[in-house]
Amino acid sequence: MQSVAQALEIVLQNAKPLPARTAPLTTSVLGLVLAEDIASDLDMPPFDKAMMDGFALRVSDLRNGQAELVIIEEIPAGRTPTRAVGAGQASRIMTGAPIPQGADAVVMIECCETLANQKVRVNEPRARPRLNILDRAKEMRVGEIVLRAGTRLRPQEFGLLAAVGRTTARVQPAPRVAILSTGDEIVEPSITPGLGQIRNSNGPMLQAQTARAGADPQFLGIARDEPQHLRSLITEGLRRDVLILSGGVSAGKLDLVPGILEELGVRALFHKVAMKPGKPVLFGVLFGRDPMGSAGLETSQTLVFGLPGNPVSSMVGFELFVRPALRALMALPPGPGLVQATLTKDHPYRTDRPTYHPARLSWCDDAGWAVEPTAWFGSPDLRGLSPANAFVVLPEGDHVHRAGDRLPVLRVENDF
Ligand code: AMP
Ligand code: MG
Repeated sequence: MQSVAQALEIVLQNAKPLPARTAPLTTSVLGLVLAEDIASDLDMPPFDKAMMDGFALRVSDLRNGQAELVIIEEIPAGRTPTRAVGAGQASRIMTGAPIPQGADAVVMIECCETLANQKVRVNEPRARPRLNILDRAKEMRVGEIVLRAGTRLRPQEFGLLAAVGRTTARVQPAPRVAILSTGDEIVEPSITPGLGQIRNSNGPMLQAQTARAGADPQFLGIARDEPQHLRSLITEGLRRDVLILSGGVSAGKLDLVPGILEELGVRALFHKVAMKPGKPVLFGVLFGRDPMGSAGLETSQTLVFGLPGNPVSSMVGFELFVRPALRALMALPPGPGLVQATLTKDHPYRTDRPTYHPARLSWCDDAGWAVEPTAWFGSPDLRGLSPANAFVVLPEGDHVHRAGDRLPVLRVENDF
């Protein structure tokens, strides 16, 4: 049986970034990684630009910052100046407008008093050449690389890409993830379960986890514990980058998933992990041929995760193995991962395998991470997850964990 760390290593060895694709720069690429260098198509700003509303003038006209000047033109943003500013002259200018020829400073409107006869009285003792002017190409020059491949697309990158005229870019695409629930007893959430039936919690939960990880979930439905039905839905799932199955992976008579995966060419790389909840976790790869052909190299075509059916097992299995894999496919580092946190109250616990126990993790400015296990009675107990935002890792054995002890905690939420 693998340890969690060994199992994760096997997963990551098989999760390489997907081929880059050109995509429109809509919010659906938010958080993805850029796969090309981006050069500016223009100087920014494209002209010497006024940074204030005021008057464009010649500093040499001022005595102790003062002068009375003749107003020769008004230049709103978006308009091109038509007249050069000569000695004794000024143009009224708005923020963002091009500086007219001849002017070498902008004095802000608050330091100016407009007089009768198209004149303005200026009083700005701090006036000096280039005051309130942003020089042409100060931000970037045409042809200059403004973003490198490997940059993650955040809102400011969207702004910058728009500024350099891009509406599409090469990105590391979001993996397409098929999700398949299995089990004769599983019914749609809209149905009132009959005797022995249980609603499909894992389908919606795994879709939400997939979306939270930045990937693209697609629910394939509920497969019956029957080879033909399972085979056809799994075949469909193997057309995606990743297939996640819930249920049917242990060693019971109706746990048909491992056999069918093998039959369909999926090579299982582990099937049990020393952890609780969720020991029977299967990870396999459907290998494809290198599209370049000749070398006959194998490339992984679909990563397959068989997670145990109990909802908390399924959730933990996803966070430990699927999420890091999805991030690797997107060329992101594994994160958010483990932090060490201080236990806030005594927690005696006995377990025969390292246990991922639902917990509430919080950050205290003076004391760092603090963690408190939440009330929870085991792998079917989804309710115990609601007050939790993390999993504290409890070592195997019989321990009285004391308030003040330090323990590793698996973070699962994005916004810490
Ligand atoms: P299995 O891994 O198929 O042996 O299932 C283990 C337990 O998890 C059983 O009690 C199942 O009823 C339950 N279970 C399996 N799939 C789901 C699901 N999609 N949603 C909620 N519970 C499930
Ligand atoms: Mg089952």
